[in-house]
Amino acid sequence: MIVGVPKETFPGERRVALTPAVIPLLAKKGITVVVESGAGVAAGYPDSAYREKGAQIGTSRAELFATADVILQVRTLGANPEAGRADHDLYRPGQAVIGLCDPLAFPEVIRDAARRGVTVFSLELLPRITRAQPMDVLSSMSTVAGYKSVLLAAAELPRMFPLLMTAAGTISPARVFVVGAGVAGLTAIATARRLGAVVEAYDVRAAAREQVESLGAKFVEMPLPADSAETAGGYAKAFDEEFYRKQREKMSRVVSASDVVITTAQVPGKKAPLLITGEMVAGMAPGSVIVDLASEQGGNCELTRPGETVVFHGVTVLGPVNLPATVPHHASQMYAKNIAAFLLHLVKEGKLTLDPGDRIAQETLVAHEGDVVHPRVREALGLPGEAETKERSS
Ligand code: NAD
Repeated sequence: MIVGVPKETFPGERRVALTPAVIPLLAKKGITVVVESGAGVAAGYPDSAYREKGAQIGTSRAELFATADVILQVRTLGANPEAGRADHDLYRPGQAVIGLCDPLAFPEVIRDAARRGVTVFSLELLPRITRAQPMDVLSSMSTVAGYKSVLLAAAELPRMFPLLMTAAGTISPARVFVVGAGVAGLTAIATARRLGAVVEAYDVRAAAREQVESLGAKFVEMPLPADSAETAGGYAKAFDEEFYRKQREKMSRVVSASDVVITTAQVPGKKAPLLITGEMVAGMAPGSVIVDLASEQGGNCELTRPGETVVFHGVTVLGPVNLPATVPHHASQMYAKNIAAFLLHLVKEGKLTLDPGDRIAQETLVAHEGDVVHPRVREALGLPGEAETKERSS
């Protein structure tokens, strides 16, 4: 089996799907890796590092697509809808593509790939079950984003983070409020604590309290009328506007007393809940900073503009996009481990094998044998529930 790793083409993308360290793991299973020349350079992995670990360096992108049985990417298809279009003519029927594909936001791109006979696995759809944890790219990338969000806030804030007692007087620690204590939020809490900030956090999921407290942060009490805020998959439920109105009201006091607010609240498949209004921003001290990690899903703050910095009443609101690409070395290291684990899970006796009883394969498979096969992607395209392709093996 030949696996191809093209250079990423999404604007500003600096990650790479495989790093040299994972090449031997794949070689052990008889997998040959061909990497497009320069694919890892922006992440700090030169061609020579891949060669040393036994990968081949491909001369052209067209040749790579022509020889690879499986293409591994970070952002592909729907997750790179414009620049990625140039690759569409390079796909071959029967070829498999694995990566972040954003199939629910751009289902028509998946339909085009299906028409070309490409088998597509979308890593965003990986079930969050214990067995799939080593393949969980969303958790890995949220870890990177959570870390970087605090550094962005610290660099923007006109104050320092730690408590300092100096001959020039006492510097009080920064007060950081993290909204949403999932993977990104918990990493943000840990990072802010390491920088010496006093941290408070809130999440609608009751299970988050213990995790927040174990990181040395205070869980903000907010009695809200929810029986259970958690789905069976461990995610937050969506609530009605009345719930969010009450939440905003209760959060308002904490927001106004904070120097930094980092928002990470998301509900899978839905627009991010609006938790911070312009009025709440205006209530913060001038110089305060908001970093909205939900900016690509519509934002948790009313003033957020994805990819932009907005200043309102002296408060800076950052809406960073594709944050993991700004820490490309470690983001690629984690991504590569995850995608290699996913690939090895699918490869049996040197072939990509789709076991109908395997949730990991079935829930990530979006296009196969000429059809869009994932029910949610079919629904997004207005197609009937079942694809005609019943046989799922290759
Ligand atoms: P996410 O990115 O979907 O959401 C981020 C956080 O926002 C979540 O913690 C969510 O509860 C919170 N949130 C949603 N609405 C909110 C609101 N109105 N106010 C405050 N917070 C709100 O989630 P995620 O970080 O990817 O993961 C969430 C949880 O999923 C994890 O903490 C974990 O329990 C679980 N998980 C399980 C696995 C696994 O393999 N078993 C892997 C990763 C995550």
